[in-house]
Order: sequence, then structure tokens, then C-alpha cells
Amino acid sequence: MDHKKREYTMTIDTKDCFTIEGKLALPYQYFAGRTGSRFITSLRDNKKIMGLECKHCNKVFVPPRSTCEVCFEDISENWVDLPNTGIVTGFTIVRYEEPHQPVKPPYITALVKLDKADTPFAHIVKGIPLSKMKTGLRVEAVFAKRTTATIMDIDHFRPIKEGPSFKLGYSYDALEVGMSDSFTKTISETDVYLFAGISGDFNPMHMNEEFAKTTPMGTRIAHGALPQCLIAPVLGMKLPGLGTIALEVTTRFKAPTYFGDTITATGEVVEKLPERRWVRMALTFTNQKNELVAEGSALVLPPPSMP
Ligand SMILES: [Zn+2]
Repeated sequence: MDHKKREYTMTIDTKDCFTIEGKLALPYQYFAGRTGSRFITSLRDNKKIMGLECKHCNKVFVPPRSTCEVCFEDISENWVDLPNTGIVTGFTIVRYEEPHQPVKPPYITALVKLDKADTPFAHIVKGIPLSKMKTGLRVEAVFAKRTTATIMDIDHFRPIKEGPSFKLGYSYDALEVGMSDSFTKTISETDVYLFAGISGDFNPMHMNEEFAKTTPMGTRIAHGALPQCLIAPVLGMKLPGLGTIALEVTTRFKAPTYFGDTITATGEVVEKLPERRWVRMALTFTNQKNELVAEGSALVLPPPSMP
């Protein structure tokens, strides 16, 4: 250790003050404890993140701790395997540089709460622009190729690329006789004209007011299949909902639909057919005056139940 006296040139009398410059190199080791050892060796040898569970409080601690912080129960033997996926509960972006950083700044330090764990732990998140980082981000652990027998055996967390998620409708088992839902729409001249283009049905009773005046209706009316179509959003998107396969739809037309009429298509579960797990639904189509425009029935195969 070397040292030198440094003279101060300030007005106060500092002739007895001096500073010492030196270097300390201090290799050391310490026992990580039984709990810490098991956590790190499981990471190192099995690429498994483990936590400790308090069976009393139903809490899972990661990093593990041998005593429950809530009830002080000894939980040191209640090891549980945890998935490599979790959610970011908080984060900060490190922009300054200092020794001992795991990566070069700027980088993201985040609190990651693993699925099935109740406490978060700090790690780094890569693979997302800094400006896009947010709490609530779903992430997964990426393990280091080479072990260092430290927490850096998880090299980092990265965002989980999740496809669009869809919520399927009611399954056969979830459906009950009496359940119903509906969809309402006003039929405009544009709808009728577009439907003529879709179907090729340019019949002047839908297109030509002067011709329509000569018919028993006295004015243009919508194609019969147009209000009938409005049951599709009910069956396919509401009841049973997404994933439904329509096997049969029958309708009887009861009254014309005029331009500007507002039609409500309603489907109601009337029968469950257990042998094929099909469902029969009664269909009604009413206008704004509550007049029955059409009625019928549908046979559908509901979506499978969600896992
Ligand atoms: Zn507890």
C-alpha cells in the first residue's frame, strides 16, 4: 500500500490533513445457504427455476426463502418447479455505465413475476425496443449457453410472441335450453343494392321503385335472404359463438322487410341432441314494430370447450 501526503492550499490550516490512495483486491467466497444453493444448482444443472411455497398462505416465493414472510412458517422443504414464463410487474431503463453491469447500457432491468409465483425478482429483459417496454409484458426466460453458477444462468428474459388469442363461444356442455341472444341492424337501400351484387338478384322489386309500385307490396322490399343473414352473427359470434359450425338453417318468410326497417334476429336454444352433441335453436326475425318478419330453426355444432 503506498501513500503520499497531499498539501492543501486553502486558507484554513490543513497542514496535518492528508489523503491516502490505494487499491484493495479482496477475493472472497461465502456459502449461499441451503436455500440459495438449491436455487442456483437447479438453474445450473437442470435449467429449472424453483421456488418455495408456504402451504399455509398459499404463497410461492421466488427467489426462494426458507421462511414465509407472512406467517414465519418454515417452508424450506416445500420446493416447487416453476415455469419459465411470467409477467413484468415493474421496470427501469439503465442508461448510465458503471462497472459490474451484466450488459452494456442502455438496458432494461425488470421485476419478473413468474407464472405460479407470488413474488417478483429482478432480471434483464432483451428483445424489445426501450420505447415499447411496458409493465404487464409477458416474458420467458432464455438460459445462458454456458453456466456461471449465478442468477445469470438465466441470460435474460424476452417477450413471448403471442399469436392473436380467440375466446371460443359456448360449448355443448355450457349451453342450456332457454339461452338466447340477438343481433339488430337497420336495412338500408345500400344493403339491398350490395346484396343484389352479392347474390346476382337484381330483381326490380328490390331495385326499381316504379316497378315495385305495381306489385302487391307497393314499394321496394329487401331480399328475403337479407334479414335471414342476420342470424349468422348471432350463431357464429354470440350464441353459441366463435367456433360454431352451422349444419342447417331453415326460415319461413312471414312479412316483407322494407328499406329502413330495423330487424332483430334472435336465436334461442330449444334442444340439446346428446348423441351428436348438436344443438337446435329456434330463430325469430322481428322488425321495429315487433312484427314477425321470419321464423325458423337452426342445427349447430357448438365449439369445443376451452382447455
Ligand atoms: Zn405463510
